[in-house]
Amino acid sequence: MSGEERVQRRMRTVEAAVGDWWWALVAAHPALGRRPVPGVEWLARGSSAGRADLQRWVVAFNRPLLAREDGYRTLLPETVVHELAHLAAFHLHGSRGHDRHWRALMAEMGLPAQRTHGLDVTGLPGVQRRWRYRCACGEHALSTTRHNRIRRGTQRYYCNRCRGELVRAEE
Ligand SMILES: [Zn+2]
Ligand SMILES: [Zn+2]
Repeated sequence: MSGEERVQRRMRTVEAAVGDWWWALVAAHPALGRRPVPGVEWLARGSSAGRADLQRWVVAFNRPLLAREDGYRTLLPETVVHELAHLAAFHLHGSRGHDRHWRALMAEMGLPAQRTHGLDVTGLPGVQRRWRYRCACGEHALSTTRHNRIRRGTQRYYCNRCRGELVRAEE
């Protein structure tokens, strides 16, 4: 099975799981039955694992993460339920964000209520690479734009705390 076939199959699995988890939420909160099963879309780039569109009643997930084992395991079930719980909390309580209503739904479904995933996003499409620099007091992660300015000698950067110049950290 090619990598692309695997991703396609995982997309179908996640889309089916959205329906299953939605019905689990409806079973716990029958008022949700007045809304249709949310639509599913796929994000081609970026570092977030998922997104919930409250107005369009759609959940979206990071497609490139599906190619990775850790990404797939995080998306299903945690991110799937995370985004569905945003829609459910909005419909039931008008709530937005990671408030107590959202957290209660995550707990009901038996999943951790974390705002963000802990995955390494280096190399994902649309995610800027970060370069490690250091000063006297610690480490700094610089964008490629800043890193190139320093390399070309057109700009220097200083730490806000110790005022020391940032220099490239050993890899
Ligand atoms: Zn969220
Ligand atoms: Zn410093």
